[in-house]
Amino acid sequence: MRRRAIAGAGILVAWLVLAGCGHLMAPPDLPAVKADVARYMESPAYERDVRRALRPVRQALRRLDAASATGTAMVLDIDETALSTYEYQKGLGFGHYGPAWHEWQRQRRAVALEPVLEVYREARARGMAVFFVTGRRERSRADTEANLRQAGYEDWSGLWLKPDDHREPSVAPYKASCRAQIEAQGYRILFNIGDQDSDLAGGHAEHTVRLPNPIYRVE
Ligand SMILES: [Mg+2]
Repeated sequence: MRRRAIAGAGILVAWLVLAGCGHLMAPPDLPAVKADVARYMESPAYERDVRRALRPVRQALRRLDAASATGTAMVLDIDETALSTYEYQKGLGFGHYGPAWHEWQRQRRAVALEPVLEVYREARARGMAVFFVTGRRERSRADTEANLRQAGYEDWSGLWLKPDDHREPSVAPYKASCRAQIEAQGYRILFNIGDQDSDLAGGHAEHTVRLPNPIYRVE
């Protein structure tokens, strides 16, 4: 009886192992996935998806006149939101290496994401304040400001960079605290636009907009 129970348990374990293995499918090979990402990023589809995500912002901006824009603000993330770092991403085979990233920032080679620049210009034309809140570090301030201006972002009411000694596992609380400080200055944040959940979590904005980014995640 006991032997039969043990044999039965053995068969059950073997079945569970085999069934478990059955769920493990070979993943798609990495070069093919990277090629798909590059195709998407370099096709009109990426810009179209960015533009589509921003449609509610454009519609709301059109309804805003000088009086209703007073005291309102738009918060923009920088990388893969205001600026594209695609050249760096692709150059590293969609990997990341700190020293290479800092050197690339120093070169100020990022270009504007055109639909975001358009929304920025529309917001400024209507008298809305624009703030940048980025996970780039304070030591990158001069290069970041120069790169933003070069890309067409001419002015802003504040640019918040992560402190050089920031070592928290998530950037989200830092970014939410920046927005809280913007509100404490008396602004009403109508839009918070970013490409990561960590750009948008934690409130302090009436509307959030998530732009596509198939390349990396920032916690
Ligand atoms: Mg970003």
